Amino acid sequence: KRLVVGLTGGIGSGKSAASDWFAEQGIDIIDADVIAHTVVAKGSPTLRKIQKKLGDWVVDAEGHMDRAAVRTHVFANPAALIKLEEITHPAIREAAKSQLKASTSPYVILSAPLLIEAAEAGLANLCQRILVIDVSEDTQLARASLRDEQSMIKIKAIMANQLDREERNRHADDIVVNNADLAALYQQLEPLHQNYLTLAQQLKY
Ligand code: ATP
Repeated sequence: KRLVVGLTGGIGSGKSAASDWFAEQGIDIIDADVIAHTVVAKGSPTLRKIQKKLGDWVVDAEGHMDRAAVRTHVFANPAALIKLEEITHPAIREAAKSQLKASTSPYVILSAPLLIEAAEAGLANLCQRILVIDVSEDTQLARASLRDEQSMIKIKAIMANQLDREERNRHADDIVVNNADLAALYQQLEPLHQNYLTLAQQLKY
């Protein structure tokens, strides 16, 4: 049995920054965002299922999923969102599981923005521990808007769809606070990494 540490946090909290640091320590990273994109790639069985369920309009002329159209549709139709997720969530979970199986590092980081929110997706129950990157809302807004050049309104809308800080932190086994510079982040990650190595070793016996 291997140790899987779920990594989560709100938009712009620093999940990628933390993942990159763990990767540098030789830890395999499974990124739910990346998987969510690859499972609906052009020609994939998952995309075909979505097309059958929601209609041919979900696929554009080149055969790619029309993300903007799907987003708009499910935003206005909660029932369609449920149908969509009934298809995508199991596919994402299966892909994550097969990546876990293929992983060879002492433990694994499973990074997912909605690890706690999307409980029905079943990613959290692949994890033995949850690590939350906590950041103030002001920092979140500033960093997310710097990075993506997204409007404040759009970022605030995404934040409104995510758990608030207190609620997310309640689910955490470990919390790092990422309001200062990257050095301060790495300084908090180091002892956690050591702890995870120890826990992983214990799990083996
Ligand atoms: P998302 O969920 O939106 O993908 P994320 O949680 O993966 O976000 P990152 O992409 O790691 O967040 O960080 C958001 C932005 O803030 C990036 O441009 C990153 O370089 C920057 N950043 C992260 N941590 C720090 C820090 N401690 N100091 C300065 N900049 C930071």
